Amino acid sequence: MTAIWSVNRQQFIDNAKKVRHNQNLMAVVKNNAYNYGLEFSVEAFLEAGIDTFSTTSLAEAIRVRKIAPNATIFLMNAVYDFDAVRDNHIHMTLPSLTYYYQYKEELQGIHVHLEFENLLHRSGLKTIQEIKEVLEDHANNQNEDKMIISGLWTHFGYADEFDVPEYGIEKQAWVDVVDALLSEGYHFDLIHAQNSASFYREEQQLLPHHTHARVGIALYGSRPYSSLSEDVISQSLTVKGNVIQVRDVNKGDYCGYSFAYEVEQDHTKLAVVDMGYGDGILRTRAKHEAIINGKRYPIKALMMSHMFVAVDETVTAQDEVILYNEDMRIDEYTFKGVGANSEQLSALNHDSLIKEIR
Ligand SMILES: *Cc1c(COP(=O)(O)O)cnc(C)c1O
Repeated sequence: MTAIWSVNRQQFIDNAKKVRHNQNLMAVVKNNAYNYGLEFSVEAFLEAGIDTFSTTSLAEAIRVRKIAPNATIFLMNAVYDFDAVRDNHIHMTLPSLTYYYQYKEELQGIHVHLEFENLLHRSGLKTIQEIKEVLEDHANNQNEDKMIISGLWTHFGYADEFDVPEYGIEKQAWVDVVDALLSEGYHFDLIHAQNSASFYREEQQLLPHHTHARVGIALYGSRPYSSLSEDVISQSLTVKGNVIQVRDVNKGDYCGYSFAYEVEQDHTKLAVVDMGYGDGILRTRAKHEAIINGKRYPIKALMMSHMFVAVDETVTAQDEVILYNEDMRIDEYTFKGVGANSEQLSALNHDSLIKEIR
């Protein structure tokens, strides 16, 4: 009896197809594919018809290259290990004018995607003038082995926000940049901007002239915002443990470390479960329930490798205790304030949970 992290592979692939909606997606596989595992996810996405991948780390990009020899792989962070980028045929962002002038010789033979900064201010060329400056300098560069400009991209900082006008503003600023460059005769093999929220806000359509949407969380089974129906995105992940024993406690008893839970009623049944924060269950998640035999019961205290759940007489030792599954989704708890979808997923500890692909 050990707690388990398990994924239904066919459901994962079916969800990826449903998210893709016959569009071209660039699957974001950063942070070990949102903790689902790089090998598993890249192979599943390939089966779902996705052959373009994106991550923030060069080491991961190189691992993706080994799994998918023919894929297009885009590195969202600028790096300085130019030989590794070139040898592995990895496309990389061009993050600023300074970087361009400093490294344009080292970048020879590398495919770059010009990045537009926009409202997030994390990276990118600041204005369309800066973008054109790179394009013109590049056109005048006589070096035969110069870098190759094959893409244009940005990242929206507000696509997940509904109460403020910023998404509309950043989207319009970006669409204007794309339109202006294309109307001046520039061409890009890849144009991409939309994360999951932006892709769904546009009804699973690409913005005009775009070649890909750069989608992460939806492919891993979580909704980026709460007004989307659960049917649109399916979770294939289950996280579950077991009841080790059920204990009888009485009013006034303190259970767990440091008075974690004070019992309110005599003859309360407390299930001791073999999962805790050491397995990556967030403390905020433990303010909510767990499912045992199809019914939700409140979690009362969280320890490193255990938790207490207040149950009734129907629950016995060895019963399964579900923390996440398709009826108790990661995104349900995101919208209850537990933490971002990716935060709950990233916390899960694959060194202590048994990993099972069904
Ligand atoms: C993480 C990330 C994405 C994917 O975002 P989701 O909300 O998970 O779809 C897209 N683009 C960039 C630059 C990212 O860092």
